Amino acid sequence: MNKINHIKISRFFSLCEFECPCCKRVMLSPELLLKLEHLRGLIKKPIYINSGYRCSEYNQKVGGIKSSYHMLGMAADIHVQDIFLSYLLFFAQRVGFTGIGFYEKKNFLHLDVRPGSKRFWKGRELIGY
Ligand SMILES: [Zn+2]
Ligand SMILES: [Zn+2]
Repeated sequence: MNKINHIKISRFFSLCEFECPCCKRVMLSPELLLKLEHLRGLIKKPIYINSGYRCSEYNQKVGGIKSSYHMLGMAADIHVQDIFLSYLLFFAQRVGFTGIGFYEKKNFLHLDVRPGSKRFWKGRELIGY
């Protein structure tokens, strides 16, 4: 049985949740984990990681942008059941993620811990922050 990355790394998360689905490689920013942990504590509901680390091949396959923070282990796309996405957004902003993408139709948030100025977008539309 392949249990690679099945390591609990915080109260709520295991390393395997962040691994690249194609190759099981993983990079994870401690700041990203800390903020997700904080968010998880605020919303009191399980956070499902749709996409964490991506190797460049996988990033290309899923149509991610070339400079994606997913390839640096600094981004996660998250889904939470039975919560309004705008409510989740409110808490994500409070926690201080510096990049936030709001995807209403697919019901997920992209969250990252990019350095420098903050960015907030809805679908393909840049809103600012
Ligand atoms: Zn991969
Ligand atoms: Zn993303």
